[in-house]
Amino acid sequence: MTTHLVIVGNGMAAVRLVEQLLQRAPSRFAITLIGEEPGVAYNRILLSPVLGGEKTADDTTLHPLEWYQAHGVTVLSQEKVLAVDVASRTVTTTRQQLAWDELVFATGSQPFIPP
Ligand SMILES: Cc1cc2nc3c(=O)[nH]c(=O)nc-3n(C[C@H](O)[C@H](O)[C@H](O)COP(=O)(O)OP(=O)(O)OC[C@H]3O[C@@H](n4cnc5c(N)ncnc54)[C@H](O)[C@@H]3O)c2cc1C
Repeated sequence: MTTHLVIVGNGMAAVRLVEQLLQRAPSRFAITLIGEEPGVAYNRILLSPVLGGEKTADDTTLHPLEWYQAHGVTVLSQEKVLAVDVASRTVTTTRQQLAWDELVFATGSQPFIPP
């Protein structure tokens, strides 16, 4: 049976992980990416050129939605993970409850200046 891998967060780290897994173990996992932001993952580093008018938002897309579909990766966007239950191996999102076999947090970080 295929292992269901749920990745919480759909940023650059999450997509890098998916790319590596597809390369190294293409049929090992059924992958679900859950991201709070709309659409597919993008290269945040290119946001400054977008604001500067040198690039468009489309230029920042890491992979089009078709790429995920072609690789059997489910992308849930605009869906926030609210809770993780380790005992029952489920995540609760703003829309549903999902079971996982393996769970990865790729939720980034929030920088702050220490007091
Ligand atoms: C303008 C700009 C320029 C940058 N330039 C550089 C650079 O030159 N070099 C460099 O190394 N780095 C740079 N960075 C930093 C780099 O973009 C980040 O380090 C990188 O994006 C981190 O990726 P990540 O996937 O770990 O986290 P993130 O990009 O933060 O992605 C995490 C994702 O998880 C989602 N998420 C969080 N919690 C939940 C939840 N509960 N449920 C669902 N989804 C959730 C968030 O919405 C987010 O989409 C730059 C950043 C910016 C903004």
